[in-house]
Amino acid sequence: RRKWRRAVEVLREFEEGCVTSIGRLRQVVDAMAVEMHAGLASDGGSKLKMLLSFIDSLPNGNEIGTYYALDLGGTNFRVLRVQLGGRGSMILSRQVECRPIPQELMNGTSEGLFHFIAVTLKQFVEQQEDDDSEKKPDEKKVLGFTFSFPVRQMSVSSGILIKWTKGFSVEDAVGKDVARCLEEAMTKAGLNMRVAALVNDTVGTLALGHYYDEDTVAAVIFGTGTNACYVERTDAIIKCQGLLTNSGGMVVNMEWGNFWSSHLPRTSYDIALDEESPNCNDQGFEKMISGMYLGDIARRVLYRMAQESDIFGDGAYNLSMCFILRTPLMAAMHEDDSPDLREVGRILTESLQIPDVSLKARRLVVRVCDVVTRRAARLAAAGIVGILKKIGRDGSGGVASGRTKGRPRRTVVAIEGGLYANYSMFREYLNEAVAEILGEEVAQNVVIRVTEDGSGIGAALLAATYSSNR
Ligand code: ADP
Repeated sequence: RRKWRRAVEVLREFEEGCVTSIGRLRQVVDAMAVEMHAGLASDGGSKLKMLLSFIDSLPNGNEIGTYYALDLGGTNFRVLRVQLGGRGSMILSRQVECRPIPQELMNGTSEGLFHFIAVTLKQFVEQQEDDDSEKKPDEKKVLGFTFSFPVRQMSVSSGILIKWTKGFSVEDAVGKDVARCLEEAMTKAGLNMRVAALVNDTVGTLALGHYYDEDTVAAVIFGTGTNACYVERTDAIIKCQGLLTNSGGMVVNMEWGNFWSSHLPRTSYDIALDEESPNCNDQGFEKMISGMYLGDIARRVLYRMAQESDIFGDGAYNLSMCFILRTPLMAAMHEDDSPDLREVGRILTESLQIPDVSLKARRLVVRVCDVVTRRAARLAAAGIVGILKKIGRDGSGGVASGRTKGRPRRTVVAIEGGLYANYSMFREYLNEAVAEILGEEVAQNVVIRVTEDGSGIGAALLAATYSSNR
């Protein structure tokens, strides 16, 4: 067919721009470890903010009692209650309720937003207590507050909002302690509850991972966006001299979506995506690896193919529209294992209004999805190994450093998020690349473990840790 070769060339060029050879991945690993170092040395020392969480001890399964959590980080917010039975019995029960946040409150006042949240929480608490036979209505209840926006933390239970993201613009809340805002609203609403822990969603994931497995040292989220946190030695946190904790460690929220390195394989499609985004020059790593963007990178390549060839006939107008190809649809095309790629054909026809695409061209579409996702997953894997390298768990310090009492030390990384949980090709490429970079022997002692709902349950667990210990 006419110009078929041009379409293949577009793919080949893109593929070449996306190479993630083992050598390249090792450079990304090193760059991640170096940037972590720089971000810990001084504020503004790196694109990685490396925010302190003040969490120095993680839940371990001994927590007992009833705790609440509030998870605010997107268009919905969730309220939860968990009952913990202590060692051996773990989580006895959990109740969750999800509520959308009315649009006007996302752009209104701090008082309006927190009042709405406090009232919703109060209704939830009352309903739970009605169902509960052993209610103790007068006791002060304890809450973990997951607040997934950049916060400059002052203690485990307080922190100042640096800026809103994700469509929120409650301007008078910027610069305020969001935990105090919530507590004031709860008091006004007549709810006897205090915030025992204010945490980022990655920190919640780490807490849940650690609750199940004490060898868990880091947590990563791959959802609409991406972020990671890990346990750092306090004496390595140079920007905060004299920081003392009981454990000698502290959880650091990396805000790794903003990571950047010249070793990242970047194509003209990535540059265009960045330039057309509202946060140009920001979140460079996130734009190559997270669920919000993968579909759109693929769309840009397909659009170029449509412009340079006639493989999509005349119907490719929709490919010019940003974000029309969402990542779950891209995943469905990528994972179509029918011999005639029926699902690819259906999605092209129904979601993109490109009918009658030949089997040969459908195969090209699958190839594009594969290149985008393989690159994303392998770079994400390099990021994870970068964290392990920073804390001496990547095996590079020699065998001795990786052993305790003669046995190799286990290292667990908790992972969460819709992209990792639902996109099996992403997950497989990522797991495979972690093993490839680490090498077989070291990889045997590194476990990647999926957790679920860490951002909610993890905050309740941290509320338990920080209300009973001290
Ligand atoms: P959050 O929006 O808080 O990150 P999730 O962790 O559930 O929530 O992640 C949702 C994201 O995961 C979606 O925006 C999408 O990019 C991605 N995702 C969800 N389902 C799939 C899927 N089946 N295939 C690929 N990506 C998916």
